[in-house]
Amino acid sequence: MASRVIPVAPFDLVVFGGTGDLAKRKIIPALFRRFVAGQFEEDARIIGAARAALSGAEYRTLAEEALKEFSAEYVENSKEVAAFLHMLDYVSIDATGDGGWEELKAKTSTDRVQAFYFSVAPSLFGALAERLHSYQIAGPEARVVVEKPFGRDQETAKALNATLAEYFDETQIYRIDHYLGKETVQNLMALRFGNMMFEPLWNNHYIDHIQITVAETVGVGGRGAYYDKSGAMRDMVQNHLMQLLCLIAMEPPAIYDADAVRDEKLKVIRALQPVAPHHIVRGQYEATDTAPSYRDDAENPRSFTESFIAMRCEIANWRWAGVPFYLRTGKKLRARSSEIAVVFKALGHSIFEGDTGPHRNILSIRLQPNEGIDMTVTVKEPGPGGMRLIDVPLDLTFAEAMAGTDSPEAYERLIMDVIRGNQTLFMRGDEVEAAWRWTDPLINGWEARNDVPKQYVPGSSGPEDALMLLHRDGRRWRDIKA
Ligand code: NAP
Repeated sequence: MASRVIPVAPFDLVVFGGTGDLAKRKIIPALFRRFVAGQFEEDARIIGAARAALSGAEYRTLAEEALKEFSAEYVENSKEVAAFLHMLDYVSIDATGDGGWEELKAKTSTDRVQAFYFSVAPSLFGALAERLHSYQIAGPEARVVVEKPFGRDQETAKALNATLAEYFDETQIYRIDHYLGKETVQNLMALRFGNMMFEPLWNNHYIDHIQITVAETVGVGGRGAYYDKSGAMRDMVQNHLMQLLCLIAMEPPAIYDADAVRDEKLKVIRALQPVAPHHIVRGQYEATDTAPSYRDDAENPRSFTESFIAMRCEIANWRWAGVPFYLRTGKKLRARSSEIAVVFKALGHSIFEGDTGPHRNILSIRLQPNEGIDMTVTVKEPGPGGMRLIDVPLDLTFAEAMAGTDSPEAYERLIMDVIRGNQTLFMRGDEVEAAWRWTDPLINGWEARNDVPKQYVPGSSGPEDALMLLHRDGRRWRDIKA
């Protein structure tokens, strides 16, 4: 079942930071895959830009090395490699200087779709936007793509928004949260709003609670010093987990378009209640015999930054009042696993004598690995001897159910959406600011209290206190398993 590919218009894509890690690992391979899929023609122009003095040929070599390392398609599609590389060019530019801009101007045209990917540190966004404007490189329809982190609090996010707004309209700004590009995340919306059977139950009458887990097995490694300035709340919760929460909790938009969807997500963020300190558990991984602790990795023996966080959140609106949303994310946990679990209420009465219930239906949406959905249902245990009930998952693993379908990865979809001019899966400025408005007081609170994160054993599910967060409510976390 080959997926349908709708070609995009000819475009010029300038990747500032085109020699960096993100460009090599994600952007270039994503573009190659879409090219192989037939989504764009050889008249597209992809221009890397960074300070390094490289020729176009040297940049194409760099890009080919990146494909060899990071693209599984490289070997199978050797014929397409040459055609793809042919579209690549390079300009040596310092975001804060004046060299290279005229050369860049000559290589792009305002007659085509223009996209400028800011794959550089956020401190350079303003300089890039200003020069794209003052050198009259960006046309009125040009799009800019910006990466996380989008600020480190509400104030810095507001400042970044204001800087971009000086030169670009909100309809031109694409703030990437790659979680929104994941196929399962979009499926979440299809599931909710494309089926009769879920939406009538999607409220506090039928749902007991919701768990969102994003667990990683890696530590902070070589990024320790950088990570120590942010922590799990800023790095994961404020963006990825909150976006997932919004998609689960939002009201049905009247239409699936960018502003309708983002309006509904914004309402969810605004309805999030402050979280009491005893509903937040922060942790840091300990050392093992062979691996350093978080504090060693962060090169900060007195670090209070969390590599794990779990929290109990509430949304104060008609639909969700009384339904806790438990969020958790962390490094060096038992397995690499991201999941949203919607746990339904138990039946009020069982007609089956001796039944050891309660049984709960659980809708589990797996983001990684093995993207898919499963629904735990209660059935009769096979065999004679009366009605014994067991809970079994009805499993829809996408790789099996849709075998042969070419499922684009997050960056592929998102970059093509930029070219198409579809902002639905990108965060709007007011959404990002509202998200920080909710997280800022929580972060300021633990900083003011000098809260020390709890230690946890690498390979575990996080600190004991995180288990207590649910035990206290008579609930338990789902197992973290790959
Ligand atoms: P990186 O590996 O450090 O690359 C930075 C890029 O920016 C290089 O190409 C660098 O090349 C260029 N650059 C630096 N200063 C410049 C200047 N003054 N003018 C023009 N170009 C300049 O960083 P990265 O990991 O690719 O990350 C890029 C952005 O994506 C960051 O905002 C990061 O937070 C975000 N991000 C990265 C990842 C990831 O997986 N890597 C994931 C999510 C978000 P020269 O030094 O030659 O100029």
